[in-house]
Amino acid sequence: MAEQNVEKVIIIGSGPAAHTAAIYAARAELKPLLFEGFLAGGVAAGGQLTTTTEVENFPGFPDGINGPELMDRMRAQSLKHGARIVTDTVTRVDLSSRPFKVYLGETEHRAEALIVATGATAKRLALPGEDRYWQKGISACAVCDGALPVFRNQPLVVVGGGDSSCEEATYLTKFGKSVTMLVRRDELRASKAMQARVKASPKIAIEWSSVPVEAVGDKQLTGVRVRDVKSGAERLLDARGLFYAIGHTPNTEFLEGQLPLDGTGYVLTKPDSTATSIPGVFACGDVKDRVYRQAVTAAGSGCMAAIEAEHFLSERE
Ligand code: FAD
Ligand code: NDP
Repeated sequence: MAEQNVEKVIIIGSGPAAHTAAIYAARAELKPLLFEGFLAGGVAAGGQLTTTTEVENFPGFPDGINGPELMDRMRAQSLKHGARIVTDTVTRVDLSSRPFKVYLGETEHRAEALIVATGATAKRLALPGEDRYWQKGISACAVCDGALPVFRNQPLVVVGGGDSSCEEATYLTKFGKSVTMLVRRDELRASKAMQARVKASPKIAIEWSSVPVEAVGDKQLTGVRVRDVKSGAERLLDARGLFYAIGHTPNTEFLEGQLPLDGTGYVLTKPDSTATSIPGVFACGDVKDRVYRQAVTAAGSGCMAAIEAEHFLSERE
């Protein structure tokens, strides 16, 4: 097994949390090594913001900034300050003793401190027909796929009632004939601003207390069977696009058995800190945040992780 020198700090991830941690760690002369993943969790290096268009709420960009461009800029800033970036996915870790061991397949890397910033990945529903029509009408990213010719001027469906579903439904009105949102409760979880945008759009209809139960079609998706969760009644909705926006799963499989997680897989950290129960291991961003889940909060906790890692290392010098 190939073995490397011991790093001061290894950062795993590539979203705002990882890059902010990298910028701070590099400026603190910790020479961070960052593994950005290669389609880890099905998402391009750069994380969730690579799947969106305009980001309007990240400070410093009064006119908004395109998500992928924001992530390119963060990556460039990490490199500029001396972070080393490897485009590969961490497959497992061994945190039983220091230096911690981080594996890319068979290759072992070792580090005195570890920052986990692997974010989260879009959930799927496992409907009958889902596998058959995945990427043949079904998508978990309207912003990535919505402009495809197959969806132009067609009836489209979005599942979910959070900010993502509202953003995706609004985005899809540019292309689709109509957009139907299937919301499983009687209210949206989304912020008031997002709700207002959806409700103001003449192209968007909301079906309350409704869930998809089957994807149907021929070579492509042609419809979605929808159930009213109150009455149990089902009907077939004409649809050429079915877009999932039902939340995310934290990317923590590679940590299995090594780090305490909560019941849904989020990394547990101490209050007001990114410290985990293992001294020297820190977690930041969406992988440990089930409440705020924003680019700026991810970046903020990435800063905390780097500062805490620096303190941890300097106390041991
Ligand atoms: P992520 O962005 O999730 O990135 C983590 C990345 O790490 C992964 O994607 C993957 O590339 C990499 N990785 C994962 N596992 C491994 C591994 N084992 N090895 C190596 N690399 C790995 N927030 C806002 O503030 N404003 C918005 O306008 C906004 N719009 C959004 C639109 C959409 C469609 C979505 C889905 C989210 C949006 N958010 C927005 C939320 C925001 O994107 C997230 O809060 C933020 O990206 C979380 O950052 P993160 O650094 O924790 O991780
Ligand atoms: P959320 O977890 O906030 O919302 C998921 C939605 O999907 C909820 O309405 C949920 O219903 C519904 N849902 C979950 N499982 C199912 C299921 N099996 N069947 C039907 N419906 C289901 O996820 P989002 O991706 O919307 O948002 C994640 C984070 O990213 C949030 O913090 C959000 O604020 C942020 N974000 C911010 C944006 C912005 O600021 N511009 C844009 C997009 C996201 P229920 O409500 O009943 O639980």
